Amino acid sequence: MTDKVAIITGGSRGIGRATAIAAAKRGYKIVVGYASNQAAASEVVSIIERSNGKAIAVKCDVAEESEILGMFEAGDKLGTLGALVNNGGIVSRSGVRVDEMSIERIQRVMAINVTGNILCAREAVKRMSTKHGGKGGVIVNLSSVAAKLGGANTYVDYAASKGAIDSFTIGLGHEVAGEGIRVAAIRPGLIDTEIHASGGEPDRAHRLAHMVPMKRVGSAEEIANAIVWLMSDEASYVTSAILDVSGGR
Ligand code: NAP
Repeated sequence: MTDKVAIITGGSRGIGRATAIAAAKRGYKIVVGYASNQAAASEVVSIIERSNGKAIAVKCDVAEESEILGMFEAGDKLGTLGALVNNGGIVSRSGVRVDEMSIERIQRVMAINVTGNILCAREAVKRMSTKHGGKGGVIVNLSSVAAKLGGANTYVDYAASKGAIDSFTIGLGHEVAGEGIRVAAIRPGLIDTEIHASGGEPDRAHRLAHMVPMKRVGSAEEIANAIVWLMSDEASYVTSAILDVSGGR
C-alpha cells in the first residue's frame, strides 16, 4: 500500500476509470483527470470514496498546457506525487486514408496523444525526480498495438502517435532511470471501451475479435491490472519497457 498521489489523465471513462479504481484500492490518492465528461469523473470519485479511498476530479484537456499545470497543482494539494498514468487519448475517425487526412485532424491527434502526454510527463518528472528533490515514482504511458500494426486504412495518424509514445517511453525511461523514476508503457489490443464509438465504429472491437489469437476482446480492468502492477514495487526493475496486453494481437 502507498499513500502517494496518482494522476490519471482520462480517468473518467474506459481504461482510465478502471485504473483509477484499481489504484485507489492500493492506497493511491487519485486525481481523476477528465476532458469534458464531469459527470463520469464525479462517478469515479464517488466509487472510490465509497470504498474509503480519496479522489478528486479535475478538468484537464491535455491539449491545453494551462489545464495540465492546473491538474498537477491540484495534485500537489492532495499530497506527494507517486505516479502518473498518461492515459487520456483519442482515436481519429476510422477508415480515413493518409491521402485524405486534413492538417486539423493530424494536429489534434498529435496534440493530445503525443504533446499532451509529454507535457504531463514533464510535470511529473519535475515533482518526482530525486534531481529536483522528489522521492521518485512511476510513469505509465498508454500506447497501443496500433504502434506495431500501423493502422493502414483505419487511422495511421493514431498509430503513429502511439509509435511516438513507445519511443518516448524508452527515451524518458533512460533519462530518469538514475533519479528514482521508472517509465513504462502498455500496448493494449482490442479493449471494450467507448473509444471505438468515438472513432465512428462502435462495434470495431467485437467485429475484429476473431483476429485476436485469444479470440476475444479485452476489458478495461485487464489493462488496469497491468498498469497497477507497473505502478507497484513488484515491477521495481522494469523501466523503458513496453508491455503488450492484447490477447496475443
Ligand atoms: P475512452 O473509453 O474513449 O476514454 C477516453 C478517456 O480519455 C476519457 O476519460 C476522456 O475524458 C479522456 N480524454 C479524451 N480526450 C482527452 C483530452 N483531450 N485530454 C484528456 N483526456 C481526454 O478510451 P479508452 O479506450 O479507455 O482509451 C484510453 C487510452 O488507451 C487511450 O490513450 C487509447 O489510445 C488507449 N488504447 C485503447 C484501446 C482500446 O481498444 N480501447 C486500445 C489501445 C490503446 P472524457 O470522459 O472527459 O471525455
